[in-house]
Amino acid sequence: MSIFDVLTASAEMMPSHYKDMSTGEMEKRVAAIKRDFGKRLFIPGHHYQKDEVIQFADTAGDSLQLAQVAEKNKEAEYIVFCGVHFMAETADMLTDDNQTVILPDMRAGCSMADMADIQQTDKAWQELQELYGNTIIPLTYVNSTAEIKAFVGRHGGATVTSSNARSVLKWAFKQKERILFLPDQHLGRNTAYDLGIPLTEMAVWDPGQNRLLTDHPENIKVILWKGHCSVHEKFTAENISQLRQRDSGIRIIVHPECSREVVSLSDDSGSTKYIIDTIEQAEPGSKWAIGTEMNLVQRLIQSHPDKQIESLNPDMCPCLTMNRIDLPHLLWSLEQLEKGELKGVIKVPEAVRTEALRALNRMLSHT
Ligand code: 13P
Ligand code: SF4
Repeated sequence: MSIFDVLTASAEMMPSHYKDMSTGEMEKRVAAIKRDFGKRLFIPGHHYQKDEVIQFADTAGDSLQLAQVAEKNKEAEYIVFCGVHFMAETADMLTDDNQTVILPDMRAGCSMADMADIQQTDKAWQELQELYGNTIIPLTYVNSTAEIKAFVGRHGGATVTSSNARSVLKWAFKQKERILFLPDQHLGRNTAYDLGIPLTEMAVWDPGQNRLLTDHPENIKVILWKGHCSVHEKFTAENISQLRQRDSGIRIIVHPECSREVVSLSDDSGSTKYIIDTIEQAEPGSKWAIGTEMNLVQRLIQSHPDKQIESLNPDMCPCLTMNRIDLPHLLWSLEQLEKGELKGVIKVPEAVRTEALRALNRMLSHT
């Protein structure tokens, strides 16, 4: 980090006195600022956010819903995005130039998105072109940087979310013989497997070694970038077997960012929205173990007292980067906004935006 980066980062840091304010005081201030700004301010919140934040969200949603909402909203001047950095970048790219997107804590990144950088991706693409020629289409999970989305847009591909990965993969296979799927190997593998592609036709691309991990490259249809979610990889086959031994009547539902093994041993899997809808529609008295982020699981437990719900991994942590957005940071960014001193503004450079939008729009036209 250069001295300039250090100074910039500390200028963007919340002053410590916010941590000393009472919850009630902070809640009152946030509510008052929201009231004053009215429709000029819009607060989207991802379902993994803490309750103390999500209570102020104008819309709570999964990645796809939040992208769609950002695209539709034309009246808000300021969008204070309660989620992680890649989601705020997506919102910035999908909104108009006169709308400003703010992330209340710039440290709210995503470890999965950081697993694919553009230099590694360009190098991989070169190697893969040599190996397979013009037979590959790149797809990227929205959990990726704007630069990776731009790479994908430039090469004719699309973004996907966990809600629409199946339909975008089907579309991609109509375009080309092979898919390069970035950066989450598990979502790529689980979705391709669901579409009937055998595991023997998938291989992992290791960006560290800059090579495809297979002895049979001629069989490969899906190239999976070696990335993963550090939250969802914590759910294990052992968690499932322990739970089933304890309670044979429990149903297990997991997010497709979990490993293939965990997904195959579970009763069901699907995106954040799918998990929420499934629990909402479940019979009263039914028993569920959920393999996804802890804030959401806890909220589902609280809002469905008629069902017996628990986390698939009792020692589960919430997503630490999502949790960087807390009530003090939300209040701080709103107070800065009130003073006209914007902090945490997310602005994707125009050249990146233009190409990334191609990938985003290809996805949005499929959903
Ligand atoms: P979805 O919102 O697409 O389910 O993704 C989950 C996630 O990990 C967000 O970071
Ligand atoms: Fe990234 Fe996983 Fe956290 Fe989602 S849950 S923001 S994929 S680390």
